[in-house]
Amino acid sequence: MKAIIYLRISDDRTGLQLGVSRQREDCERKAAERGLTVAAIETDNDLSAYSGKRRPGFENVLKSVKTGKAQVVIAWSLDRLQRNRRDELRLYEACRDQGAQLALVNGADLDFSTAAGRFVADALGSVARMEVEMKSDRQRRAAQQAAAAGKRAGGRRPFGYDADGMQVRPAEAAAVAAGFESFLAGMPLGEIARVWNEQGFVTGQARRGANAGQPSPWTRSSVRDVLSNPRYMGKRAHKGEIVADALWPALVPEETWQAAQAILTHRSGQVTPNAAKYLLSGIGKCGVCGGNVHAGANARRGVRGYRCAESTGHFARKAEPVEEYVAQVIAARLSLPDAGHLLTDSTKADLPQLRAEATALRQRLNSLATDFADGELTAQQLRAATARINEKLAAAEHAMADAGRVDVLGPLIKTKDVRAAWDTLRTSQRRAVIDILATVTLHPPGRGTRTFNPDTVSIEWKLA
Ligand SMILES: [Zn+2]
Repeated sequence: MKAIIYLRISDDRTGLQLGVSRQREDCERKAAERGLTVAAIETDNDLSAYSGKRRPGFENVLKSVKTGKAQVVIAWSLDRLQRNRRDELRLYEACRDQGAQLALVNGADLDFSTAAGRFVADALGSVARMEVEMKSDRQRRAAQQAAAAGKRAGGRRPFGYDADGMQVRPAEAAAVAAGFESFLAGMPLGEIARVWNEQGFVTGQARRGANAGQPSPWTRSSVRDVLSNPRYMGKRAHKGEIVADALWPALVPEETWQAAQAILTHRSGQVTPNAAKYLLSGIGKCGVCGGNVHAGANARRGVRGYRCAESTGHFARKAEPVEEYVAQVIAARLSLPDAGHLLTDSTKADLPQLRAEATALRQRLNSLATDFADGELTAQQLRAATARINEKLAAAEHAMADAGRVDVLGPLIKTKDVRAAWDTLRTSQRRAVIDILATVTLHPPGRGTRTFNPDTVSIEWKLA
């Protein structure tokens, strides 16, 4: 029979006293006494840089047992052999499956090829398994408790905060708030990434490949990660659910965050911000059939145009006069003295009350789980109550999202010269404003007409 010797150096008391050469001599003597050929000697040094991560020697021992290269594992003692309960369990299982033996210099041998040996191994194994499970239970409960207390989970430094996740970094925090605002105003994720990169901000993630170790620049997906992280409205999530008010300060109000989620998940009727180059493509309507308006340039004459997406026969017309007219009408509407009411009247939402309601509903959800765990609720009652509260919570979040979205108009209404402000907006932002305020319908321009006729573009207000 062939044996594999396993030696381990660690910084515990026996590990230091028991040098590797002493372990080795004792194990080789054990092999000689039993008449075993030593196929290999594996050593792990827990003091090395690999400590806590991998034990290549131990993995080799497992492999040798599993592949039948060795039928006996020799070690100085059980606690030299395994560092933790999980590894212990893996070793027992490998030996049991192969009928291998454990021979210890210091301790009784275990022969997994006999019924008695397997019995002892099973008993030792189930103790090990129970300890592993209890440990992960403890870790799970600790994670839940930390979440319910609004504590941070750990991990990379979150953008906008110090490494502890608690202290705000003002410059980054301002960028986050501006990012949310721009997104709600129709700026695509990729453009927000470009802005942050231009401002010199980097993600907490390290690059791979050519520039490995350097911080990664912002991308669409890392910006999306920021905008969808409940941390930024000061909430702590656990397993995808918001479970508590966080201990760190919020960078945006809850309704702003909810509005961003509505757009990210396509819950809102709003056109998802995209890089559409034309003001009205996808949001304008055809006056003939009600279908969507598409960009339809006349390539031969190099003129930008719009046409019906359903049929070219419905209409095709020049884009510029239409866009100029829409800009004038929107600016005129937002310049009226009552424009401020568009914000308040349209939302009709009592934000502080909505926020309080959502918080209360989430707390209720948490206490339901506790009541269920304490046996005060049956599974059926828990399900029914959870469904009811989730429905109310969804309604409150939806109302907040609507309220948050209308903030797009804020910067335009607060200014004195609306038209000048409009002209500074990006196309994506203008599209968001139009989509909130009005439905624009394009009719055929009329045969042979050279001058723009305002009657051929109708603008219907969504917000009164
Ligand atoms: Zn049409």
